[in-house]
Amino acid sequence: MDGAFTHDVAVVGGGPAGAAAGAWLAQRGKRVVILEREQFPRFSIGESLLPHGNDLLRQIGVWQKLEAAGFLRKFGAEFCTADKRRMRRFWFGRNLGPTHEYSFQVERAKFDHVLLEHARESGCEVLQPARGVSLETDRDGVRLEYEKAAAAGESAPVRGVLRARWLLDASGRGAFAANRLGIPREATQPTRRVAVYGHFRGVFRNEGKAEGHITIVRSREGWFWMIPLAGGITSVGLVVPVGVVSEGGDPRAVFEAAVEAAPEVRDRMREAEPVGGLRSTGDYSWRHASFATERVVLVGDAAGFVDPIFSSGVMLALKSALRASELLVRACSAGRCLEPGERMAYTREVSSWMREYTRMIGAFYDRAGFEVFMTPSEFFQIPASIGRLVGGFARPGLADRMRLEAFYLLCRVQKFLSLVPAIEWSREARTGH
Ligand SMILES: Cc1cc2nc3c(=O)[nH]c(=O)nc-3n(C[C@H](O)[C@H](O)[C@H](O)COP(=O)(O)OP(=O)(O)OC[C@H]3O[C@@H](n4cnc5c(N)ncnc54)[C@H](O)[C@@H]3O)c2cc1C
Repeated sequence: MDGAFTHDVAVVGGGPAGAAAGAWLAQRGKRVVILEREQFPRFSIGESLLPHGNDLLRQIGVWQKLEAAGFLRKFGAEFCTADKRRMRRFWFGRNLGPTHEYSFQVERAKFDHVLLEHARESGCEVLQPARGVSLETDRDGVRLEYEKAAAAGESAPVRGVLRARWLLDASGRGAFAANRLGIPREATQPTRRVAVYGHFRGVFRNEGKAEGHITIVRSREGWFWMIPLAGGITSVGLVVPVGVVSEGGDPRAVFEAAVEAAPEVRDRMREAEPVGGLRSTGDYSWRHASFATERVVLVGDAAGFVDPIFSSGVMLALKSALRASELLVRACSAGRCLEPGERMAYTREVSSWMREYTRMIGAFYDRAGFEVFMTPSEFFQIPASIGRLVGGFARPGLADRMRLEAFYLLCRVQKFLSLVPAIEWSREARTGH
């Protein structure tokens, strides 16, 4: 490959993973360029954060800016059945202590903008809107061709080339590098699902500290999220198997019918007014077979996508971005590419975080597993261990691991013996909130 190196690290994608990695690397003196194909602020989904993510946001020095940005504080999560019969509420402070008592519910347009500006202020060069087009790699580095949108006075987009020692692929589910390098992808859940979602005004809100709780409502066929945002807006989304939408035809009709059939959601949305239209996206879960080559590392959704029930996406994006950045700084200091052991260890570690959630998600979708999940019991402090996972601690210690194993065992036994009451999906109950 010809040409002198222009940068230590080129980052494709300026979402949470790309901005966090860029900021962290630039703060350590690396020459970083971030390519982002959209002009920010722009809409993105993934609005509910987890307290463990706070630590990562503090590590890159952006926490105070987020505190000042006016996002709604999220002190926990609640899980309900659509028929209003059951509800479980988690409070982060109870399981994680006062240091992790809350995280935020964020308008992603604003959150991502704050993060990317922070990366710029930390010393990153940001090319925007500019999209990565092609990629070549060898043992010394990468050659990245990009296309930058025409600026004022220019008649056409401009093509350019960057030479960097490393490429961090933070391009999200588009998986820029993995597609070009031919890294295979495997499904991590058997069912392909689709999400239909929008913003609404006038949705019911809990009182007091529970105002910022995310509400997850499980119905027979799928589930809803209800995420209260600042300014009286609530994000409401429906996740169902792809077949439900393809058979129902119009996503809006499917959404409206599902709300009507779910008293818990219907009653909360009685006075709701849409703000903008509904959107839909496939959200099925997968991961790439490997997350790193000698000169390329995949971070965030570009490595793999985890079903969003437990709101783990942004936290995993930040966590993988910072772990990958540590690897690059170490290799950079030693003047070498990433060694096979490092690449394998990175893939294994990030996969293990994803697996913790994928397993709990499997229990959530499984009828018997959900029945155990929804049954309040302090048995062996299992709820506290689940609460820590729900708070973002994707690497349980030994005691938590054993309690989670006990939980999964109970879920299996529930299939054959009724350890806890079964859930009847068709009947309605509780009125009011
Ligand atoms: C329906 C749904 C609900 C979700 N809910 C939640 C939630 O409540 N909480 C949560 O934490 N997570 C949630 N997620 C997941 C969350 O959205 C993602 O995990 C998170 O945004 C990943 O961050 P990222 O930086 O890896 O990727 P992204 O946020 O996708 O950012 C990637 C960026 O790369 C840019 N890009 C892509 N290709 C190129 C290219 N070729 N050149 C230049 N730029 C490029 C894109 O424009 C984008 O800005 C949800 C996801 C879905 C689908």
